Amino acid sequence: MMYSDDDLLPLSVLADLLFCERRAALHQIEGLWKDNLFTVEGTYLHQKVDDDLPVESRGDLRITRGLLLHSRELGLSGKADVVEFCRIADVGGAHYSSSGTLAAAIPLSGSSGLWRPYPVDYKRGRLRHEEGFEAQLCAQALCLEEMLKVAVPEGAIYYGKPRRRLVVVFDDSLRSKTREAARRLHELVSSGRTPQARYEKKCESCSLLSVCMPKITGSGRSAQGYIAKALAQDL
Ligand code: SF4
Repeated sequence: MMYSDDDLLPLSVLADLLFCERRAALHQIEGLWKDNLFTVEGTYLHQKVDDDLPVESRGDLRITRGLLLHSRELGLSGKADVVEFCRIADVGGAHYSSSGTLAAAIPLSGSSGLWRPYPVDYKRGRLRHEEGFEAQLCAQALCLEEMLKVAVPEGAIYYGKPRRRLVVVFDDSLRSKTREAARRLHELVSSGRTPQARYEKKCESCSLLSVCMPKITGSGRSAQGYIAKALAQDL
């Protein structure tokens, strides 16, 4: 199935979905966005990236910033923080994917040789594995493959504190997880239903904690029960 332009959803919500489906629904269905320290620092990092020159050349590297991406197969669109195009000496053979044959590298206008895209996403905090971030980056790779018909075998997540790059290989397992997350996101948005809250440790770092109120509205709890318990403790 191919999605139309009107059905494309924001690529960044994939990370939300894999963090918490309710969070993705609050953002995408109910239109709630709320900054906390984590998102403010993340936004600042993104602004710094976006403020830089759109294209930079460094030897065998061409760096583009803020490239608009979309995939009709995933039904997603968004903006890449950075896509590095690396000049490839040995291009090898063609690659095969579900969407057909992909070139191993492509020409770039104004530059000699053949180049392969390498998406880089910027995140706050310490280097760590987060499946949502990795799926979000993989979705960018799938967009680039669909748009440019070139193989994108790996990319990196750049963590701000300390400055570290985590290399992410877009293997079959991550590609399937990303496609499944995109399918689930579309299913969730078309259902128009926001899942019930369930309080977990991760809620403490969620920017929507104060509007979601998982301790009060969480599954198996009712606001009345919570208030009754609080009153009982005060007596
Ligand atoms: S506070 Fe917890 S349950 Fe609510 S949206 Fe955030 S992570 Fe999900």
